[in-house]
Amino acid sequence: AAGLTGASLPFRVRTREGGWRWYVVHSRRAGHGLTAAILRDVTLEREMQESLTDLANSDALTALANRRGLTQRAREIWLRARDLEQPLTALFIDVDHFKAFNDEFGHQAGDTCLRDIADVLQNLAAPETCVAARYGGEEFAVVLAGCDDPHSFAKGVAAAIRALEIDHPASPCGIVTISIGVATGYPRTAHGLDPDAAVGQLLERADEALYTAKSQGRNAIALASDEAL
Ligand code: GH3
Ligand code: MG
Ligand code: MG
Repeated sequence: AAGLTGASLPFRVRTREGGWRWYVVHSRRAGHGLTAAILRDVTLEREMQESLTDLANSDALTALANRRGLTQRAREIWLRARDLEQPLTALFIDVDHFKAFNDEFGHQAGDTCLRDIADVLQNLAAPETCVAARYGGEEFAVVLAGCDDPHSFAKGVAAAIRALEIDHPASPCGIVTISIGVATGYPRTAHGLDPDAAVGQLLERADEALYTAKSQGRNAIALASDEAL
């Protein structure tokens, strides 16, 4: 790009210590066939930008993805699953009798409980195949690629939350439990859906199934109505 006026795209250079630094070259014709160029170190701006993006995409209480982060990560997972012809599963999760938990132990303890649940959800599968998000309040969503047995997977998640054994006297089980709605589909572009809309539909089906799980008495798992058990 020598001789072109303007700024280059950012590029990175490996440092002696093994890290990376980012640079932009600004150049301008200076007459007499000469070009003046300035190499600018933009590492700090880039790191700031990255941490701002992280902030904007994550939930302050649990550090899980927020809805925005979910949309972004789920899009990547959807595209990857489509290319690998893998199924995509969505779990919609709601903590059972959580208002009563707050009433009994207070809001701070409620926050700690949500964080403990989030820590379990954060580590369900490799990040390139799975994202867990706080959807709102005491509701969480998980989008996962390549799961052959979503029902068993959901059972495992529910069991892992029960294994935390968080005291909850007002709940019939005596401990904190969750209900889960599950939906699965194969990502395809043929339906004319974009990835965001397709993931949105999958989450909607999982959310509907969650209502069924709740109506079954909580501490329950339900599959989307159009899926056989
Ligand atoms: P259900 O089994 O039907 O889900 O009952 P529930 O009590 O869990 O549901 P409900 O929607 O009645 O109450 C949700 C409660 O979650 C009420 C609200 O105070 C609490 N909650 C939502 N967000 C937070 C939060 O960030 N921190 C705490 N501590 N509580 C929260
Ligand atoms: Mg709820
Ligand atoms: Mg609830």
